[in-house]
Amino acid sequence: MDILVVLEDNRGSLHRMSKEAIVGAQKMGGSISVLAIGNNANGLANELSNIDISEVITVNHDLVSTYSADGYSEVVKQVIEAESPSTILIGHSYQTRDYIPRVSTKLDIPFIPDIISMENGLVKQILNSKLNATISAATDQKILSFQSSAFSEEAMMPGNCSSRSFNVDLDSSLVRSESEDPFQEAAADVDLESAELIISVGRGIEKEDNIPIVFELAKVMGAEVGASRPVVDSGWLPSFRQIGSSGQTVSPKLYLALGISGAIQHVVGMKGSKNILAINKDADAPIFEIADYAVIGDVLEIIPKLTETLKG
Ligand SMILES: Cc1cc2nc3c(=O)[nH]c(=O)nc-3n(C[C@H](O)[C@H](O)[C@H](O)COP(=O)(O)OP(=O)(O)OC[C@H]3O[C@@H](n4cnc5c(N)ncnc54)[C@H](O)[C@@H]3O)c2cc1C
Repeated sequence: MDILVVLEDNRGSLHRMSKEAIVGAQKMGGSISVLAIGNNANGLANELSNIDISEVITVNHDLVSTYSADGYSEVVKQVIEAESPSTILIGHSYQTRDYIPRVSTKLDIPFIPDIISMENGLVKQILNSKLNATISAATDQKILSFQSSAFSEEAMMPGNCSSRSFNVDLDSSLVRSESEDPFQEAAADVDLESAELIISVGRGIEKEDNIPIVFELAKVMGAEVGASRPVVDSGWLPSFRQIGSSGQTVSPKLYLALGISGAIQHVVGMKGSKNILAINKDADAPIFEIADYAVIGDVLEIIPKLTETLKG
């Protein structure tokens, strides 16, 4: 086996970042196996039945029916030991950050996280996303995780694949922890990573009293609301809405940047958006360098008008 992609179940269906990891694997080339763990392993396997990979390996065991860091890390370890893939790929999600370092430690395989590209070697961002570094592993076997939107899920190549189950050897001395509900559910069901429409608000909104007009627009559009860091730091919106290097990484079909300047720490979290519409009263704002559609104007005037128009 050349590549093993470890999948993630996102509340009953395949996580977008797992699809992106499969695209990364297809670009790498070689035989690709994917690993689905948990009580929905067969459901995840079904989602991939028309995809160009060699096989889906399913693991379903009472002790890993739902996610736990010690359970999943033990399963991935046992599969790697048995199948000897040269490269293990995974999306760089919260869950990955939680348990993949354990797999790396258990097996003494290097883990290179948050890769953004494989064009000229393995590229990741360093120094608060100001520089790109090319990283290589000194070992033949390595674990890589991809930053959200490093690849487009739409580029998954169709084909056929088989499925087989893998018997794991687990007992309660190995799996001792239980996870709480996923982060997004705890945060009032806001799932920015999977959102198709995001309206993101920056310091240009001027004060907390103006935030409700953003939510009115979001309601009319069926969008989630995100924010730049100053809006979160000011306490106008909670931290789970922050987008950027110290917040979430998103890739919606449409990202509306309202009164956001376009600092690199923000851009790194939303540059994977398929379409970016920016509204800013400063024609020289850096956000316009990456925007597909630019509106030079005052968000406090434009947002209510947009809401009224869309209501009509
Ligand atoms: C270690 C570190 C981590 C960071 N992490 C993040 C992060 O995760 N996410 C993040 O967002 N930032 C992050 N930052 C902060 C980042 O550097 C910027 O300061 C921040 O993104 C700027 O937010 P902003 O665009 O809302 O505000 P500003 O830069 O102040 O921009 C406000 C914009 O609104 C426009 N404007 C003002 N009034 C109006 C109006 N009425 N109508 C239209 N436009 C208007 C202005 O022209 C301006 O372009 C981080 C910084 C550091 C040092």
